[in-house]
Parts: sequence; C-alpha cells; structure tokens
Amino acid sequence: MVLAWQAGQIQPMNRKRRARRGVIAFMAYHSGGLAEYGLTREVIDTRGMEAIEEYVAENISRSRALSCLSFDTYFHEIEREAVCMDRGVLQRALHLPHPNSNQIINFPSPLTITAGQVGTNGAITEQYANYEDFRNAYMELGLCITNFPNEVIEQLKAEVWQTFGALINPDMALRLAVGTDCFSSPELRMSGIDDEMTIDDLICSTQQGGKLVKVVGQVAEMGDPRKRAIKIAWRCKVNDCNGLINTYPDYFEDKEIKPDSCSHCGAGNAGNPRTAWVQAGEPDTSFVTFQRLMLRQTNTQKTTPPSLLVEVRGTHVHSMNQGEDVVITGIFGTHVENNNGKNERLHVLHATDLTRTSQDSVIEVTPTERHALASWKEEKNFQEVMDILTNVTAPNVIGHTREKQALLLQSVGSYANLPDGKRNFVHIMLIGDPGTAKSQLLSFACQGEAMHPGSNYATGARASIPGLIGGKSENARLLGSSRSTLQPGMLALIPPGGVAGIDEMHALGDQNVFTALNDAMETGQVSVQMQMKGTIQTRAPVLACANPKGGDNSRFDLYSGIPLIEQARLPVSFVSRFDLIFVFLDVVNDERDATIMGGMTAGMNSSNADPNESFPVEDGYRKYLQMCREVEAAPVLFDDEATKHLTDIFVKTRQNRVNGATVNFRWGAALQRLSCAVARLDLSSSVNKEHIDYAHSILVESLTTKEPNMVNEGGTGLGQEQSKVMDEIMRLLEDWSIMELGQKEFGDKKDAYAYVKKFWQLDSADYACPEERDFDTFLTTLSKQNKVERKGKNLGVKGL
Ligand SMILES: [Zn+2]
Repeated sequence: MVLAWQAGQIQPMNRKRRARRGVIAFMAYHSGGLAEYGLTREVIDTRGMEAIEEYVAENISRSRALSCLSFDTYFHEIEREAVCMDRGVLQRALHLPHPNSNQIINFPSPLTITAGQVGTNGAITEQYANYEDFRNAYMELGLCITNFPNEVIEQLKAEVWQTFGALINPDMALRLAVGTDCFSSPELRMSGIDDEMTIDDLICSTQQGGKLVKVVGQVAEMGDPRKRAIKIAWRCKVNDCNGLINTYPDYFEDKEIKPDSCSHCGAGNAGNPRTAWVQAGEPDTSFVTFQRLMLRQTNTQKTTPPSLLVEVRGTHVHSMNQGEDVVITGIFGTHVENNNGKNERLHVLHATDLTRTSQDSVIEVTPTERHALASWKEEKNFQEVMDILTNVTAPNVIGHTREKQALLLQSVGSYANLPDGKRNFVHIMLIGDPGTAKSQLLSFACQGEAMHPGSNYATGARASIPGLIGGKSENARLLGSSRSTLQPGMLALIPPGGVAGIDEMHALGDQNVFTALNDAMETGQVSVQMQMKGTIQTRAPVLACANPKGGDNSRFDLYSGIPLIEQARLPVSFVSRFDLIFVFLDVVNDERDATIMGGMTAGMNSSNADPNESFPVEDGYRKYLQMCREVEAAPVLFDDEATKHLTDIFVKTRQNRVNGATVNFRWGAALQRLSCAVARLDLSSSVNKEHIDYAHSILVESLTTKEPNMVNEGGTGLGQEQSKVMDEIMRLLEDWSIMELGQKEFGDKKDAYAYVKKFWQLDSADYACPEERDFDTFLTTLSKQNKVERKGKNLGVKGL
C-alpha cells in the first residue's frame, strides 16, 4: 500500500491552512456559492438525494447523510439552522460531482474564493488549482474535524458567514445585511467518528486530546442550562467615543477578555488615554446556551465508575434525561476550573453531536407484533406459554426450572397501578457455592439484554452506597447546579422493566450498605442525609447472588452449627426482604448433603432452544415480556374465589411449623405479589386460582417456605437438619454435665465431645455426629444462644 502522503497527494501544509481550505470549500459548495460554475442549489440537492441512499447503504444514518444537501434544504429537513460536518460524508464525498463529470465543465482552473470584503483586514482568500484540488480540500475537511476540530471552528469566522451566509436564504441574507453584529452563526455539529470509546479508554488515552471522539455512557447528573457569550460587543467609554469593538471569546471557555485598544478613538494605544469598556447587551453581544452533565461508564467493574464532564450546547441542552444512555461525539480536552483560588485541570468533552440510545432501553412492540403475540398466546393454555418462556430463559443452564420461572416473574413484576401503593417488584436471592448455575442465571437476567436492555449489575465487593443507591452529588459546583443535587446510583438508574443484579452480595460487608439496601428494596426509596435532605427513588427489582464465607472458593459448610445466612455474611433482617431465596449447593452427588438442604433436585432437562424460534415475531421473547409488563390491574384484582384460595394457602402454610418456625406476613405478601406477576405473564388484569397455584409452586421451593427459621428475623437461623443435630448435641451436653461433672461448673471440652460421640442416638446415616472440628462451630452457636460457656479448653453448660 502506498500512503497518500508518499504518493505526493497530500501536500505539506499546516493545519490552520488545511482547515481553512476545507472550510471555505465546504461553505462555498453548500451555500450555493459555486452556482455560476454549474453547482446550483438544485444540482447540489439532486445529487445529494441520490447520494443519501448510497450513504445509508454504507451504514451512515439518514440524519447524518442529510448533511450532503445544500444548507437551505438541510435546515428545512432538520427544522433548525445547524451546519453539520460529518466525517463519513465528507471523506466519501459521494454527493460531489466526479472529476470526470460534465457537471463541472465550467469549473475554473484555478478557482479563487474570497470570504469577507476584499481589501479589508479580515478577508480570506483561498485558491484551488482546479476542481480536483477543490474536491480534495473538501474531502480533507473530514480529516480536519477528526484531528483538529478546534482549528475548523476557528476558521468559521464572521467573514465566512458574511459571505456565504447571505447566499443561503433571504432570511439569513437580511440578518447579515443589517450587520454582522446582529447575526449569530448557526449551530455547528460534527459527527461521523466510527470507533466508540469507553470513558475509561478515553481518559487513559494520551492520543485523544483536542480530537473529535465518540463516547458511550449514561447521563448520571445534569446541571442547569447557563449562558456564555460567544461574541461580546465592548462599548468604549473613553470621552464620548461610544465605539463598539467585538471580541470572540474562546468557543468553550468562560473567559471574557477586553480589547487592548479602541480602533475608533485610539484609546489604549501609546500616548492615548487608557481604555474603559462596558459590555453592550444583546443583540450586539450574543450568547449560547450550554449545559454540563456527568456521563458515567456503565460497563465497568470499578467501585467508582469512570465519569466524564460533558458540555452540550444549543439544541442539545435539555435534550436528554438523567439515567439515559447516550452516544456523544465531541471534542475531548482539558478544562481549567477555578476551585477556591486553585486551578483544577479536568477532562471535558465538548459535545458536537449527541445520540440518545435510550430507545434501546425501551422495548418497542408494534401493533402488528402485539396482535401476533396475543393470538399466539390465545392458541395455547397458560401452562404451555409458561413452558415455552421457561425453556428459552437462560437456555445454557440445565434444570433449575423453578429459578428460571422466578426470573420471568421478576422481569415482569406485579401490577404497577395497584391502588395501595404496594411494591410491585419481586426481589430474588440466589445463594450458593461458587461455580454453580447461579452466576449464569444472574448473567442472563442482568448482564445481557436478553430479558431487558435496561438491566444492569454491580459486584458486591466493589459496590458502595453511592454506587448502588446514590448520595449527595459532589459535582453541583462543576455542573453549575443552582441547588445541591443527589447523584443517583445503579438502582436509581434502572429504567422500568430492568433488573438490578448484585453479584457477590456477601462481600458488601458494610452494615450501612445493607441498611440502605433494606430501605431501597422495601419502600423503593432511600433518604439521604448528608448535610442535606432528600430521597432517591430506587424502584428496581433486585437479583442478588451470595457465596459463602467471602466467596474465595470456599463452600457452604453444612456440617457446622453456623447458620447458612451467617456463613454468607448476610444480616437476616436484610435477607428477609427477598420474596424468593434459592439455594445452590455444589453437593448434588451426595445424597445426604442434598437432603440436608432439601429440594436440591435439579432437573436434568437440557434445552438449547433459540430464544426466538418459539415465537411468531422476531425478538418475540423480549417483546412478549414487554407486553406482560404493560398489563394493568383491573379494579377487582382478586375475586372472592381467588381471595379465598390465597387465604387458604397462607393459613395452611402457617399451620405447618418447620423446626418450630413458620412463614410470616412477608411470605403472604410475596405470594400475593408473585401471583400478580404470574397473572401478568398470562396477559390477565386479574388473578385467578391457576395463577396463585403457579406462584405457590415456585414459592414452596424457596428457602422462605422450606426453612422459615433460617430467614425469619428472631429465628435461630439454623436449618431443620442443623437444628436436629444441635438439639442432640445439647441433650448430650446436659447429660454430660450432670453425669460427669457433678458439682463442677466446667469440664474438658475434649471429654464433652467424647461423651457426645459415645452416646449419639440419631441415625448416623441421616444425622451423623459432627467431627470434632465441626463440634466447635456448634459450640460457638450454642454459646451465642447463651446455652453453654467456654473458658479456654473448658466447657460449661448453663441453666442447669
Ligand atoms: Zn474609543
């Protein structure tokens, strides 16, 4: 490959010159300034209309491709005065006549173009040897906007607008004729960068300063719209001069520098009076509206997600919402911010083009698709529909049917329009050993876009209250917010329909995080009180995963007396917030282990179904779920029969005491909520018996039903089998104390263990006597319950 440079096609030329030649060629072409050579507006637009189809075929969006039209037509198309320089369009230049075309038969060689009034100071003259030279300069503008966009902005001087603006349309001509003082130039957009960067990549890069880049992120915070002068008219107050001198402040900075001298009276020049200026008002001075926002990287594992200060202006102000995903093209640079007398250098992106991608976080279902999906559903009974949905949920996970059904219920949630304002989101916890299916289920529900593109996840080890829920914003000053603002965390930024995944929940560690999450999950909002008051809305369902003992490949120890939830380092008060808790243990081959937790019978029905093949429309799985999310509650949600059924199940379950404990009111609320979610999956606005039974069949597999003692506040936290072993140990220790110790308060712990082992009466096939090292963990729990006391190697039994 021969580089263009080596081939001598790119002449050595400084960037100012290159930008200027490009800008003049661009402005002359699109304004109709070359009409006398045959490139009239009609020719430009006819060629443009044809080229647009070619650009679209080359994956340049239609809105970008439109920039190949004449300015006047482009203004009409986008319904505003804005000039767009798109790299893809400029570099391809398919809309420009080919050098062999007879459309340029009258093109002069050389072509001389002058902007501004010939002979005056600001006049700019460029010469192009021939049409090909002109066309190259035009195409090179694409390189210029990528590599030195500021230089291109610099070259769009008032004189350039004065000359070419007047050609665009009569309205602009009139405004310019009144004087450039009253003319503010159209908004400039730059776009067409191919590679999307993450904020992290951008900040770490040393290559991108001053260049045009494209960044993806989520709008985390927004400041107030503010105004900045882009042209200041200074009125000379020396004697009776009153002359006006214009200055053009830096496009991106707030600095307003006064002129050195007055060209009307000579003030400021040697031997003349000192200058004295006042700023003239609008329209002599013109302003642009700008707004700052904090863009946050979403696909990151870092505790503090990388964020980037972005400045948008003109029509992009207020064009997006907090929490939205956006792609921003802009000029990356350094901004010097004065903070209490100290200069801070910050990364800043000056947006020149902005695309909201939040349409991606909403799943659109067309009326035709709705109709097709509704008929598809009508042809089947409810069980069949649920089987298909379950089958394509996390298809790479074998078995775990109940957990998959639970994910479907969570994704859809209960009715949003319930009159009593009950929470409608379903929280699920998966606890288990590392490497089990739980991570794959979490990944399906939250990491990809399989169920909903708005889902997101965080990792407990790296999560903090600000990161998960939010807090007081530290950016109010930087963003120019008139009041202190709250910075929302992940939960607050999940759009309706999305699920917040928290992996490695056991590693959250901080009690305060659990307390805040408790509120967030129960009420859907958290109050923030850090020198200010406010609440953060956190209306998102949570899918949490927890491993035992810090997760460093250790496994749950079922032979010890330590409650399972404690082994996962989770407070029981927090765990009780979950509607459904499923346990995944890496012990399915061992029958005894399996029965200890019960219900560890994972089905073995493998399914590798394509999520879409089972549905009548493309992307049918997600679209069907979206339809379910939109089902609203009927005025009577549970009829008499359904209400009675629900009550019967609850009462019956309450009567069934497991290990002395039974389900509580939270369980009843969960059954109700899950029944509503099932009804929605049936596209039904009321709940029937079948829905309740289906919800119940999932709920009975949850730890909250099987082992209420383990997850209810105030319980011992032990499972049935653990409790049985514990009771036997305690019985034998009491015997030992009476038989062996007599009047002594304490005896050797080893003797105690020997006694327990010798007289163990439970069937050892089901409930073996613990090993000596595990005996200690039982003693720890008994000591916490104040039943035994340990003193070094000695042990005493209390309350005898
Ligand atoms: Zn003056």
